[in-house]
Amino acid sequence: MIETGKIREHFPILDRKVWGKPMIYLDNTATTQTPREVVDEVCRMYYTEKANVHRGVHCLSQEATASMEAAREAARRFIGAESADEIIFTRGTTEGLNLVAASYGELLNPGDEVVLTVMEHHSNIVPWQLMAARRGVVIKVVPILPDGSLDMDAFRRLLGSGRVRLVSVAHVSNVLGTVNPVAEIAALTHEAGAVLCVDGAQAVAHCAVDVRALGADFYAFSSHKMYGPTGVGILYGRRSLLEAMPPYQGGGEMIGHVSFTEGTTWAALPYKFEAGTPDFVDAAAFVKAVEFIDRTGMENIAAHEHELLEYATARMTTEIPGMRIFGTAPGKSAVISFLIGNAHHYDTGVLLDRQGVEVRTGHHCAQPLMEALGIEGTVRASFAVYNTRAEVDAFIDALQRAAAMLL
Ligand code: PMP
Repeated sequence: MIETGKIREHFPILDRKVWGKPMIYLDNTATTQTPREVVDEVCRMYYTEKANVHRGVHCLSQEATASMEAAREAARRFIGAESADEIIFTRGTTEGLNLVAASYGELLNPGDEVVLTVMEHHSNIVPWQLMAARRGVVIKVVPILPDGSLDMDAFRRLLGSGRVRLVSVAHVSNVLGTVNPVAEIAALTHEAGAVLCVDGAQAVAHCAVDVRALGADFYAFSSHKMYGPTGVGILYGRRSLLEAMPPYQGGGEMIGHVSFTEGTTWAALPYKFEAGTPDFVDAAAFVKAVEFIDRTGMENIAAHEHELLEYATARMTTEIPGMRIFGTAPGKSAVISFLIGNAHHYDTGVLLDRQGVEVRTGHHCAQPLMEALGIEGTVRASFAVYNTRAEVDAFIDALQRAAAMLL
């Protein structure tokens, strides 16, 4: 059981007001808020331990390096990777996916196929399109069923071409909340002789992730969506694949030896993929976010969010006139995308904001999904561990007032 009162004490921002009203933060899919201990760790790093990592023999640099490498180990454990060498620090999910597309893409040939799904975030579409244009690779797209779950029969048919080399799929949809059957997708992908890349941005803060049990060959996520600092993310890659891939960016730290005459060699994993000074301050603070999740318990977080999801969904469908919810797949994550009748999502969002309710509006970086749904955008409310039933009640009240003005 979650004691939300106690948890909220860790998040000073939740006490603020917007437009003179208590703020109800329901934009957790875009970014979660950050507990005090994470912010304190950022300060501790700046006040006591700021020195460039990996390059210094001096004490401060070695301490900073130890903090960063402790973060790598925390990330390894958090997602069940075999080795810390398989954990690459990135700027976030977007950079992780760009890294895989650019680097693994170099190993693909004209006519090879990459399979994506129609529910992907643009960051799991555009990097593949850029690579496909360079390499003559063909992109195939798995459609969804009316409830927002993946059309697994269509997926099986696409795998049947015999030319699929890579599948990249969201673990959890940022619009529909659909939790994709990653382990099953991995088994089918591997059977077809391809590798599986998973966009874990919306999963890591909401369900336990074990990359080996899932069978993911690559798994990308962002710290800022899991109570951690901005500016840092993680890409997991299976060692044998990372070893075969060329570097993504060149610069300091990623080299073995640099020579104009003899050519340049690469550093061992994971440094081969970490050119330049990494965001070591935020990497260190990321550990505190992992500790926050561990202390709270992922099962407790998931159960709490699920209860809020069910409660909010039931009240929205029965009490708000014209309510249209997009994404009703069984076991979905705590994300509710909706429209009130034909009211524009921006109008609904503005009316909610004026009542203190912070929700996201727009296409949510998923324009192909919007096209498939035949809409321009939605309003999206999404929950995190610190949200309460009382906040859902206030959200419903605000929705009722908005609906009265819009319909
Ligand atoms: N994938 C999904 C499913 C997302 O929801 C997001 C963030 N909205 C991203 C990728 C991109 O994450 P980031 O902006 O942190 O790189």
